[in-house]
Amino acid sequence: MEETKLTGKIYDIQGFSVHDGPGIRTTVFLKGCPLRCPWCHSPESQEFPTELNWMEIRCTGVEKCGRCIFACPEKAITAGAKKISLKDESEYTVVKIDRTKCTSCFKCADACPHNALYRCGTDYTVEEVMDRVKRDMPFFKRSGGGVTISGGECLWQPKFTLALLKACKAEGIHTAVDTTGYCKWEIMEQVLPYSDLFLYDLKQMDPDKHKRVIGVENASILDNARRLAAAGGKLQVRIPTIPMFNDNRDSYREFGSFILELGDAVETVQLLPYHNLGAVKWERLGRPGPALEAIPPTEAHMKELKQLLEDMGVKNVIIH
Ligand code: SF4
Ligand code: SF4
Repeated sequence: MEETKLTGKIYDIQGFSVHDGPGIRTTVFLKGCPLRCPWCHSPESQEFPTELNWMEIRCTGVEKCGRCIFACPEKAITAGAKKISLKDESEYTVVKIDRTKCTSCFKCADACPHNALYRCGTDYTVEEVMDRVKRDMPFFKRSGGGVTISGGECLWQPKFTLALLKACKAEGIHTAVDTTGYCKWEIMEQVLPYSDLFLYDLKQMDPDKHKRVIGVENASILDNARRLAAAGGKLQVRIPTIPMFNDNRDSYREFGSFILELGDAVETVQLLPYHNLGAVKWERLGRPGPALEAIPPTEAHMKELKQLLEDMGVKNVIIH
């Protein structure tokens, strides 16, 4: 099969992104991730298959519509909570979904005229993504931007990611791969020649804590970072700074030592303070969560951690 015909499962494509690498970028979010970070604010990125999303605010109510109830072959959708319309203060009834009965046939999404029920995850070919990306070329050129492939973990859809990177490079577009680093080295090695930058997450240096909290070991993540650095890859290290997990001086000393070990391969270090936005996304998927609800670190605390890295000799540390 021609590489441009390969498909990937994507849950979003965002233009005008300014936080996913240099300049103005178009970020392509691939679905599915092997990690389970308790603070995840993109739960729609976690599962690999297409999922049913439910945005209650768009539902006009079963009194006026109710098409999804009739469309569902499993009788998984019924009348749910009463709501008051802000427009005319009339009462209406939104639907509720019994996820235990749902078989993901998406007949309800096809029947819903208001997109209150919709698919999260669409198969795109490389060609289709490139058609979308090429519209933003003038912004890339003016700002020094490009395309970032993100997720989920985009390297768990390796053929598609590689083909998309190649297609971007063929158009002269700057490319970045936003990765957890958790994949086989052979995959990283294949994408390296086509990725100008790796946005590379470091979450925890302690292997036991990493495995206990996130669900996977960190040995391959650290090893892949070392190998990328040795093979000429350019990295922007990203540290999600999470209360009670890694927002302390000891964790940051360990991050600092590792970053220094990677040498000049690290162009910038981005500290990402935990935030608790995004809880609504879990509701849309009918899932409880996120597992962690904490108070975000203060600006002063983030500056202190930044200073600690700088005192160790780490360069170009930014707080986003
Ligand atoms: S996707 Fe689930 S809720 Fe919707 S029609 Fe199919 S079985 Fe019913
Ligand atoms: S089809 Fe859509 S708008 Fe109509 S009742 Fe169902 S969810 Fe609400």
